[in-house]
Amino acid sequence: MMDTHLQLRDARTIAGIQKLRFFPHSIVAGEGCYLIEEDGRRLLDLSASWGAAGLGYGHPAIVEAVTTAIRQQAGASILSAVNRPAVELAENLLALTPGSGDRRVWLGHSGSDANEAALRAILAAGGRSRIISFVGAYHGGTAGSMSISGHSCQSGVSKLPGVLFLPYPDPYRPFMGDPSGQSVLQLLDYHLQTDCPPEEVAAVFMEPVMSDGGLIVPPPGLLKAIQDRLHPHGALILCDEVKVGLGRSGKLHCFQHEELSPDFVTFGKGLGGGLALSAVVGPAEVLDVAQAFAMETTCGNPVSAAAGLAVLKTIRDENLPERAARIGRKLYSGLERLASTHPLVGDVRGRGLVMGVELVRDRESREPAATQTAKVVYRAYELGAVLYYVGLQSNVLEITPPLIIGDKELEEALEILDNAISDVENHRVPDEAIRKFQGW
Ligand code: PMP
Repeated sequence: MMDTHLQLRDARTIAGIQKLRFFPHSIVAGEGCYLIEEDGRRLLDLSASWGAAGLGYGHPAIVEAVTTAIRQQAGASILSAVNRPAVELAENLLALTPGSGDRRVWLGHSGSDANEAALRAILAAGGRSRIISFVGAYHGGTAGSMSISGHSCQSGVSKLPGVLFLPYPDPYRPFMGDPSGQSVLQLLDYHLQTDCPPEEVAAVFMEPVMSDGGLIVPPPGLLKAIQDRLHPHGALILCDEVKVGLGRSGKLHCFQHEELSPDFVTFGKGLGGGLALSAVVGPAEVLDVAQAFAMETTCGNPVSAAAGLAVLKTIRDENLPERAARIGRKLYSGLERLASTHPLVGDVRGRGLVMGVELVRDRESREPAATQTAKVVYRAYELGAVLYYVGLQSNVLEITPPLIIGDKELEEALEILDNAISDVENHRVPDEAIRKFQGW
């Protein structure tokens, strides 16, 4: 809890520029869906460390794979030598990602570097300069990935010359008041006919569910309609599955809900089961564009790759996409129940085990309730659960628990959320509680 030994040491040592803190949380261990703090308190993790710990903490398959790989460590890099776990991981990713033609896999450490590597290779290979992305998109925190991201937390950051940001089709806060998303298509058509001819578009970067922008599920068919306008003209479609992929959405790939056929897929977060690992799957003609073009020394290191292989095997063996769909249905109906009793809840949406709860000051006007949202996550922490918030207005609770979460834990989660929201609605959480925590 607040002002413990670790908290103070962290404040004196770790750079503020890499912090996004919501409450005074210091972890000393993890077990399944629970995180254990310095004083022994156990917290139910409804974030899975922003989705990175997709199988929870200390999963036996990952422990075993990583222990074996480090014991017989086959180098530390794929840069100048081949290693078996990296090659096997690439083979597995190719096998599980729909697509045709000759394809390759680029291995990295984070969602940011995966999106950046894909972007750079696409621009280098195709001779086209335009990229289409979305307002609210978060593709990463490196210069290149930020240059095609439209999230408000990166305002002031230079964007790629030639990027076109479309409004994300958002049924709850619709562009031009049109929840069907057709107005987004009309705007796209206008650009394609005027300043952004489709023949100039190198790629469209899509999040099949917009994650950090507010857990937005697009209206059915909208992303497909965008794909269909660009694909025939040779623009590449990239689906960023970093947060919502690998089973979390209730299907192996979230883009399968949208019937998209991406040329590129980027993976991260859960792929490494808590270790730093990301991947791009895409056409060989792009990902082989040049040697020594997108290098980082420890990319494809055998230990992270072994963790990735264990994650993919566990997803297959335990049928985790189906499980996420099943538990996700229960989570959704539990959250809907909360919505029926709490006026603070404006909207509940998501797929499988990626859910968003948008909090509003008034259901009619839908005015975002940012302060209340910060207080709910703070109070939930006090009551024993970890979750964070996202959204361009900082008012969407993000619920992305480990995919192994069970019914009992789900009940516990819903009870804590119910109590946390009640306490905020009844003004039991003082402003001072959240003052130190800026969130985003
Ligand atoms: N893409 C998406 C959709 C994300 O949600 C994130 C991180 N929130 C990233 C990319 C960047 O991933 P990382 O922070 O691992 O670099």
